[in-house]
Amino acid sequence: MEKEAKMYYENDADLNLLKGKTIAVLGYGSQGHAHALNLKDSGLNVIVAQREGGNNYKKAVEDGWKPVSVAEAVKQADWIHVLLPDEVQKKVWEEDIKPNIKKGAVLSFSHGFNIRFKQIVPTTDLDVVMIAPKGPGHLVRRQYEEGKGVPCLIAVEQDASGKAKELALAYAKGIGGTRGGVLETTFTEETETDLFGEQAVLCGGLVELINSGFETLVAAGYQPEIAYFECLHEVKLIVDLIFEGGFGKMNYSVSDTAEYGEYVTGKRIINDSTREEMKKVLADIQSGKFAEGWLDENKNGRPFFNKCRKEVSERPIEKVGARLRSKMSWIKK
Ligand code: NAD
Ligand code: MG
Repeated sequence: MEKEAKMYYENDADLNLLKGKTIAVLGYGSQGHAHALNLKDSGLNVIVAQREGGNNYKKAVEDGWKPVSVAEAVKQADWIHVLLPDEVQKKVWEEDIKPNIKKGAVLSFSHGFNIRFKQIVPTTDLDVVMIAPKGPGHLVRRQYEEGKGVPCLIAVEQDASGKAKELALAYAKGIGGTRGGVLETTFTEETETDLFGEQAVLCGGLVELINSGFETLVAAGYQPEIAYFECLHEVKLIVDLIFEGGFGKMNYSVSDTAEYGEYVTGKRIINDSTREEMKKVLADIQSGKFAEGWLDENKNGRPFFNKCRKEVSERPIEKVGARLRSKMSWIKK
């Protein structure tokens, strides 16, 4: 077996390293609200920056914060955790963070995009670290409240203080991450694997796989409702089994006919040309080509992004799905 990566748990992290520091959480979105509330409940001193107007500002106020501007929060803080959308971070860094950040402060992120692709180039006096929960923000909050924790990645890009890793571990503890387990990575590894995963497997690959299966059945004259249950609804049931016990548990649970079909057909669908294409996708991520395209797309007002979002929303599977799900009240929540 390969060498196992070291995991860090509760006893490997010291919250006292953060006592007396003011931590600014920038952005009160999916991750931001969870980090801010968890850190506060861990007894730390937190301030929240969230621009005015909009639901997240309202939510921050309802949760008891007095949200301030990014510039104001940065001036007051010893630690800045950037939880703004990745595509706005460069601008906010240049206009509001860089001119106001204290010398020797900690600058941290939950995704390495802007550091990896040099959109943000921090001054050398700063500790630059990552604390990235491997789950959506709402789960980061809910699990913390339940005494559990979403596993986290940490990484150190710049260690000005000589304590950057211990500090990152302490922050991970503050949001509940050391309850689930913390794994060390680099900004490069986190960014490249995250982008590859969401493009090739989780979002890009899965959405097109489901939709292609659905459209193949419908084009052959089968009822769309049946195609929906078969190609979309059941994905969750299968993935739950894989999540709980790997391919083995899933194969144990499905019929032997289904398992035989998996062996006969799986590699016809995900074949050598798919794997070749995956390598090219990874190469485009590593070279910065994908990042450049996404940043340009944002500069140009997102014409391609908006066109695709509209196209996907108008797909027959979305229409059938909305109708069927509206009858399954337990799905919503
Ligand atoms: P989000 O879009 O949910 O929240 C961003 C918040 O920033 C919003 O409240 C928005 O109003 C606010 N904002 C935008 N521009 C602002 C500005 N100029 N000044 C002040 N506030 C501003 O974002 P998110 O999904 O929480 O992502 C934040 C970071 O966390 C990203 O780096 C992302 O890659 C990373 N991340 C997200 C998830 C996730 O589950 N969503 C998981 C892991 C890592
Ligand atoms: Mg990811």
